[in-house]
Amino acid sequence: VTVVGILGGGQLGRMLALAGVPLGIHCICVEPAADPPAAVAAEVLHAPFDDRDALAALARRCDVVTVELEHVPAHALAWLAERVPVRPSPEAVSTAQDRLLEKRALNAAGVDTAPYAAIDEPTSGFDEGTIVKVRTGGYDGRGQVRLPPGGDVTAAARQLGVPSIAEGVVAFGRELSVLAARGLDGTIACWPVVENEHAAGILAVTRAPAAGLDAVKRRQAEAIARAWLQRFDYAGVVAVELFDTPAGLLANEVAPRVHNSGHWTIEGAVTSQFEQHLRAITDLPLGDPSAIGCSAMVNLIGTLPDVDAVLAVPGAHLHLYGKAPRPGRKLGHVTVVAPDEHGRDDALARLRTLVPTPG
Ligand code: AMP
Repeated sequence: VTVVGILGGGQLGRMLALAGVPLGIHCICVEPAADPPAAVAAEVLHAPFDDRDALAALARRCDVVTVELEHVPAHALAWLAERVPVRPSPEAVSTAQDRLLEKRALNAAGVDTAPYAAIDEPTSGFDEGTIVKVRTGGYDGRGQVRLPPGGDVTAAARQLGVPSIAEGVVAFGRELSVLAARGLDGTIACWPVVENEHAAGILAVTRAPAAGLDAVKRRQAEAIARAWLQRFDYAGVVAVELFDTPAGLLANEVAPRVHNSGHWTIEGAVTSQFEQHLRAITDLPLGDPSAIGCSAMVNLIGTLPDVDAVLAVPGAHLHLYGKAPRPGRKLGHVTVVAPDEHGRDDALARLRTLVPTPG
């Protein structure tokens, strides 16, 4: 059997491990929290991410090690990489951990982003308003301060208390994301571009494919994913969050891992992001990323809906992560798959009446 080590044992680790079962892949997670979601399908080493004994066990027992969250200590990945293949590479992961390095790498790869400045550079903010974001560790809209034009950027950065960057506010029409995988032989497979809605800074709904995306922007999104994958000689799945503007797409954030906006692929694509990631990092051929019909994914955040009502929606698939309810916590998701956009939007409208929106 192939053994895959995963840093992190949350829902992404759970769905990776579940996808490994039919492929004969055994997963071992390192996870500091007790009773992690991945425990249903993976062996769990209950330890901090930089615990030498746990990392040594991964290095000894695994064919390859990957991550299900980007905020793992870079030195732990580097230590592992001297002993066992780490995919994607520590460099690809640590670049995506830091918003400043991430934006510089995107720009260097020819990908446009919002205008930005490192806070240690003199900056008075941007004419269109400024968002000050922590460079590392922020997620789901946390670690951000939004300022009107003329707002005090330096004071906002001081309030965050850690290294941060200032970004110009982008007047986007909508938010999209593109997910793609690259295999060890350099083959790239890109899923259809999807449209994302956030509530209180947390992903709430994904529609796949994004409605009415023209071919120019579709190709631009694919080129953005490809640029990142090639820049890092990348192995595995990457997700790039995008702002859709009249002038074209801007990249906002890169996730060096499977991503919430790719959960629809479990039922809505020929090959799921979880299976594809495992194929990519274990040197198996990549699968077909084509969509099967039209899908929508709704996150279950903070509280659980009436399960019977959700499952009564035609084409609905329920995924629960086994986590205790808590405000703002991702507890599960529902995916509906329909033959066409019309059927998808009908099913999504029904789901919206059943699933509470946070915030
Ligand atoms: P992030 O943590 O960078 O993904 O930001 C969380 C959310 O804030 C994004 O999904 C956007 O809705 C919004 N946002 C982030 N950066 C910008 C920006 N430069 N301009 C406008 N909205 C933004």
